[in-house]
Amino acid sequence: MQYNLAIIGSGPGGYVAAIRAAQLGQTVALIEKYSTLGGTCLNVGCIPSKSLLDSSEHFFNAQHTFAEHGIKTGTLEVDFTQMITRKNTVIKKINDGLHYLMKKNKITVYNGLGSFVDKNTIKITKADATEESITADNIIIATGSKPTVLPFIPIDKKRIITSTEALSLNEIPKNLIIIGAGVIGVELGSVFARIGAKITFVEFADSMIATMDKTMGKELQKAMKKDFSANFYLNHKVTKVENFGNEVLVTAESNGQTVELKGDYCLVCIGRKPFTDGLNLESLGIVLNKGQIPVDEKTLQTSIPNIYAIGDVIRGAMLAHKASEEGVLVAEIIAGQKPHINYNLIPNVIYTWPEVASVGQTEEQLKEKGINYKLGSFPFKALGRAIASGDEDGLVKVLADKITDEILGVHIIGARAADMISEAVSAMEFRASSEDIIRTSHAHPTYTEAFREACMATDNKAIHI
Ligand code: FAD
Repeated sequence: MQYNLAIIGSGPGGYVAAIRAAQLGQTVALIEKYSTLGGTCLNVGCIPSKSLLDSSEHFFNAQHTFAEHGIKTGTLEVDFTQMITRKNTVIKKINDGLHYLMKKNKITVYNGLGSFVDKNTIKITKADATEESITADNIIIATGSKPTVLPFIPIDKKRIITSTEALSLNEIPKNLIIIGAGVIGVELGSVFARIGAKITFVEFADSMIATMDKTMGKELQKAMKKDFSANFYLNHKVTKVENFGNEVLVTAESNGQTVELKGDYCLVCIGRKPFTDGLNLESLGIVLNKGQIPVDEKTLQTSIPNIYAIGDVIRGAMLAHKASEEGVLVAEIIAGQKPHINYNLIPNVIYTWPEVASVGQTEEQLKEKGINYKLGSFPFKALGRAIASGDEDGLVKVLADKITDEILGVHIIGARAADMISEAVSAMEFRASSEDIIRTSHAHPTYTEAFREACMATDNKAIHI
């Protein structure tokens, strides 16, 4: 079969590119090695983790905050099997939705491993080992990523696990040691801590969620200590992980001191790496750079002009919405349009409670670049809406240019930060100043008033503090 466009990988990069290209009149083939669509995001990433985060949060609230609201409950119990079943039902529902969208947009789905024969031909090897080849004028590689592993950490998928196994465990860990206090580690740690696990983080950096503004890490650590009595070994380098049947032993070092931590599970969340196995890129002369497929900054073309790459398999943040933006961009470029992505304004969100969300530059980055900035901060404990709901942890931090007042970065830790950050993204896309936000009416009482107050605080004129 001959197509205008073939896409390898059906994650949020690949399937979104497929739909946009079909909308623009292209004939499209989507190749996925698994039987389900949606990639990491739908099957072992964003969606299952958020499903378990929501379920565990209901339990935690019933246990810890209902009484304060005047709601009496009987004895509470977690039905973990049902939690996992519900998570699987959520995945299935969205997967069915994706199949419907493929049909609606007349996209042909091939299930099998895609491998390049030449720059226009892809061989598809199916689960039953049969093969089929298709050709396309243009091809998008959207093969995503997989968890990073280190040679001295033997992932046995039973007791020493990655995020993939953590999302389908048969029991709640009693004592979970998490290597890596980044986004995935803190989200999955929250899931298990809320339903009874004792959690311990071992992190090489000197703060948790180290790539975000430092204030966010400090506040999140405070919240996790308060809510879960979580243990933190920051600035610690893991040197050994061993499985002794029902017990794991993690050895780590800091400043010449060795610590040994015992648990029943060890969750390894030290990042993800691009996935290109089986693509046969060598035959095309595409040379990887640190595992990533090198692409043109603007067009996302590889060294072969009709082959593009998007999402986790190329440089940049490993985020579903970044992959989708790139999918749309490439589909539009192929159709002759001139789209562009502002990578500085791709928001970062962590779905802990309080949630963490940010966009633009961190205070540390501004300092490093020597940019003169002013800082406005507003705590949720001074906000009527937050006091009414009982979610008073956290703050909004706004960084604006000292001279022009343009907003350069917004960092929120608090209830509903994940949704609130959109206002900051839109404002910054239009290069708003903090004064623009101040002059915009914000409904009362809402969490978004904290963003406005933080903008006011950049000029020392916050009203409620
Ligand atoms: P993927 O989603 O990885 O999809 C790639 C697809 O390509 C896979 O289905 C794979 O099977 C297929 N494939 C690979 N090679 C071949 C081949 N040769 N032939 C055929 N098919 C192939 N991001 C967020 O933005 N928000 C979140 O809340 C969030 N939470 C996450 C939680 C966890 C636990 C994890 C692990 C990740 C999370 N992410 C989140 C990251 C997000 O999942 C990824 O950034 C996103 O899925 C990347 O999309 P992609 O399309 O590039 O690749």
